[in-house]
Amino acid sequence: MPKFFIKTYGCQMNERDSEQVAHSLAERGYERVGHESEADVVLLNTCSVRDMADQKALGKMGMLGRLAKERPHVVFGFLGCMAQARGASLLKDLPHVDLVVGTQKFHRVTDYVDELVARKAARNLENAQRSTPNAQRSMGRRMDDLRFSIVDVEEEAGSQSTIRDQQLTPRQATAFVSIMQGCNMHCTFCIVPQTRGAERSRSINDVVVEVRKLVSRGVKEVTLLGQIVNLYGRHEFPKIDTNSPFVQLLESVHEVEGLERLRFTSPHPIGFRQDLIEAISRLPRLAEHVHLPLQSGSNKILKAMHRAYTAEKYVDLVQRIRRAREGVAITTDIIVGFPGETEDDYWQTRDLVEQIQFDNAFVFRYSPRRGTSAAAMPDQIDEQLKEERNQDLLQVVNKSNRQILERLVGTEVEVLCEGPSKTNRDRLTGRTRTNKIVVFEGDEKLLGELVDVRIEQANGFSLYGIPLAE
Ligand code: SF4
Repeated sequence: MPKFFIKTYGCQMNERDSEQVAHSLAERGYERVGHESEADVVLLNTCSVRDMADQKALGKMGMLGRLAKERPHVVFGFLGCMAQARGASLLKDLPHVDLVVGTQKFHRVTDYVDELVARKAARNLENAQRSTPNAQRSMGRRMDDLRFSIVDVEEEAGSQSTIRDQQLTPRQATAFVSIMQGCNMHCTFCIVPQTRGAERSRSINDVVVEVRKLVSRGVKEVTLLGQIVNLYGRHEFPKIDTNSPFVQLLESVHEVEGLERLRFTSPHPIGFRQDLIEAISRLPRLAEHVHLPLQSGSNKILKAMHRAYTAEKYVDLVQRIRRAREGVAITTDIIVGFPGETEDDYWQTRDLVEQIQFDNAFVFRYSPRRGTSAAAMPDQIDEQLKEERNQDLLQVVNKSNRQILERLVGTEVEVLCEGPSKTNRDRLTGRTRTNKIVVFEGDEKLLGELVDVRIEQANGFSLYGIPLAE
C-alpha cells in the first residue's frame, strides 16, 4: 500500500483542500504518514499570498531533491496557489518534481498520483532489469518515454463543489467547510483572484449535506470558509426578502440538529449588510466572534488598495456588530508598509486600532506579489520601516489582547475541547465561543466535548483554567 505525506502552507482554505486530497488518496488505498521520509508520494500544498510562503515551499522541495536521489520511486508534487501561479515553470529548476496541480484540480490529484506511481514503478523495474550494456542501449529509448511529469492548472467548471469530503481524526470536534472559491474583488495587493479564479459558490443544499455528515460523525463546530465568505452565492442565487444568499445559508446550516457552534471566515466589510448583522443577533449557534479584515486605517491607503470602504464606515460596522451580540470578539488583518503609506497614514491605522480595541489582529508587512497592481506602484516602502511599523502595531494589538484576556480571569467560559495542548501533552486545549484558546487539566474523555471552565490565569495569548465538573 503506497504511503503519502502532505504538507500544507498558508490559510485555512488550503488546509481544507489538503484534507480533501488526503481523503481521496485514503479512499483509493493510500496510507497517510507523518513524515516525508516514510512516504512514496510527497505533496506540498502551497500558498502564494506572500513571498515568504512561496520561498518556503520552493526551499522545502529543493531539499527533497536529496530524498528523490535516495528513493527514486517517490512521487513529488506541488499543489495549490503557487502551483497555479507558476505552472510548468516549477519543473525547470526542480527536475525531481513530477506533478503540478492548480487550485481547480484538487479532485484530479489521486488519478494523477496513481498514474505517476505506476510509471515510476515500471521505470524502476526496467532499471533493475538493465544488466548488460546491450540491454541498456535497447531500453534507452523506452526509458525516455517513461520520464514524464503532469501539469494541470486549467480552470474547471464546478470545481468549487468538489471540496466536500474529509478525513476526521477520532473525536474531532471542529471542521472547516468550504462554501465557495475565488474572489472578484481585486484588491491591488492580492494575488488570490489570479490563483483561485472568479467567485463560484456551492449550493446551500450541498453545504448542508456536508455539515449534516460531519455532525453525524461527532463534529460540534463548523467554520464556513470562503475568500469573501459573506458574498457567497451573489452570482448564483437570488435574495429572499432582504436576506442575501449567505444569510440564507447561515440559517439553513444553523438548523442542523446537533451542531453546537457555527463560524465563518473571512468576510469583507463591504458585503457586511444589515441582514447579516440581524442574523448575528438572532442565530444563537453563531459563535461570538467576527474576523473582519481592516487592512488600513487610512482612507487614502484603503482607496489605493481598492478596498471600497472608509475607516469611518469600518468603525460604524464594528459598533453595529457589537450592539448586535453582547461580548462578540472582533479580530482583524492589517497590512503595514503598503506603497505610499506615509507616517501620517500609519498613525491613522495605529489610532484606529487603539480606538477599536481588537481582540486580536494579524499584522503583515506588505509583500509585493508579481502580477498585482500594487507591486508596480511607486513609493514602495523600505523593509526596515515596514518592520518597525509591524513591531509597533503588534504592541498596540498585544496590549488590547492582553487586557481582554485578563478581564476573563475569574469568569466561567464554555470551551470546546479539541485535544492535548501542543506545549504540554498532559493538558487539554480548546476554544471559547469567542475563539480564545484555553488550556486546562482534564481527562481524555473530555476530548470533543463542551466543557465549562473557570479561568484562573491569562498568559501570553492563552487562558488557563480548571473544568468545573468532569
Ligand atoms: S477580498 Fe481582496 S484580499 Fe480578500 S481574497 Fe479578494 S482580492 Fe484578496
